[in-house]
Amino acid sequence: MEVADSAVGVLMEYRQLTTASAEAGGILLGRMLLQSPDVIVDEAVRPVATDRRSRFRFWRARRPAQRRIEAEWRTSGRMVNYLGEWHTHPEDTPWPSCHDVENWCRLGRKARYEQDFLIFLIVGTTATGAWEWSKSRSSVDLLGHFANPIPAAE
Ligand SMILES: [Zn+2]
Repeated sequence: MEVADSAVGVLMEYRQLTTASAEAGGILLGRMLLQSPDVIVDEAVRPVATDRRSRFRFWRARRPAQRRIEAEWRTSGRMVNYLGEWHTHPEDTPWPSCHDVENWCRLGRKARYEQDFLIFLIVGTTATGAWEWSKSRSSVDLLGHFANPIPAAE
């Protein structure tokens, strides 16, 4: 997985670096690379006004994200897809809550997407964790933790 520079910028901007900052999140949009198993995250979509955000929870509004996915899919000539989700945690090295894992599995089973997997990022204060939902295995696995700022694609 590669993450575009601008997407890394958005992820880092919403880190919960003070005790007042609430969780943030959104969808990940990107492309599958041709003739490669790799995937590039082009955009981490920012939170919208109708999301619900508190210090320890984030609820993403469904409709704005769905509209955005459909618009990107059309305007990109079916290149840009829904790849997964990101959200922040007020902890150094983030781990998913039970709620997170349940939500990821629900999305993996119910959401519409082209590829065999979804990517889930949790942005902590000093590191970002990446998990992958595999459609064929019906399971969520840790891809790894990366020190912030996570490396951007070349
Ligand atoms: Zn969480």
